[in-house]
Amino acid sequence: MAEETIFSKIIRREIPADILYQDELVTAFRDISPQAPTHILVIPNHLIPTANDVKASDEKALGRMMTVAAKLADEAGIAEDGYRLIMNCNKHGGQEVYHIHMHLLGGKPLGPMLSRGE
Ligand code: 5GP
Repeated sequence: MAEETIFSKIIRREIPADILYQDELVTAFRDISPQAPTHILVIPNHLIPTANDVKASDEKALGRMMTVAAKLADEAGIAEDGYRLIMNCNKHGGQEVYHIHMHLLGGKPLGPMLSRGE
């Protein structure tokens, strides 16, 4: 059984977060350390530690993450200019919190997808 992270406490509203959306499958809230004018995290309500752990039974929640990201991008006014959706996996992906999450980033030109030379 995977260990819970701080994100489970945010979902249960045991610790504060700026929650923008929640339903029976997913929760979305502002990143505590924003890397762009809009930086929102969209997560499944049940714990999936990494992208490696995704199962067919998770497809409904993962699909909902996409539709919620698109809705929040629209609400944030960044849909037309564009934005980036990122999901980091494990050490090389730079994952810090082991409860999968989609970063929704936008509000300015975001530059190249990866740092040059890396
Ligand atoms: P990762 O590096 O795992 O892809 O991203 C984890 C993200 O979670 C980081 O952008 C970090 O700022 C954010 N984060 C970590 N702890 C908290 C928290 O307690 N509250 C919120 N709102 N965001 C957090």
